Amino acid sequence: MTFFEEQLEQGIFQICYCGNCNDTIWPPNEICHTCNNKTNWKKSANFGKILEFSKKESLYFGLIEIDEGIRVLGEITSKSIPEVGQSVRMSVSFDSKPHYSFIVENN
Ligand SMILES: [Zn+2]
Repeated sequence: MTFFEEQLEQGIFQICYCGNCNDTIWPPNEICHTCNNKTNWKKSANFGKILEFSKKESLYFGLIEIDEGIRVLGEITSKSIPEVGQSVRMSVSFDSKPHYSFIVENN
């Protein structure tokens, strides 16, 4: 299990970044693909915005861009129909693969 996966299992989304390039590395990698420096980690604030979504049976799924500039797919929980651009809070877990889920804020 990687550090990233271990952290997901604890509900923490770690952002991998290169301090030399001042850039986010996604997917996470120990080495920056641009400058070959060792990368660092910082905890995500777990907020993002809906880029697009679709409905599958009674569930909403969407592509979310989190504030650190990373795009992930996951289930969206909302009391009403979600909207593109809406702010969401992210929860993460790991169960043989990463799971991302999103709750619409101010709803
Ligand atoms: Zn770099």
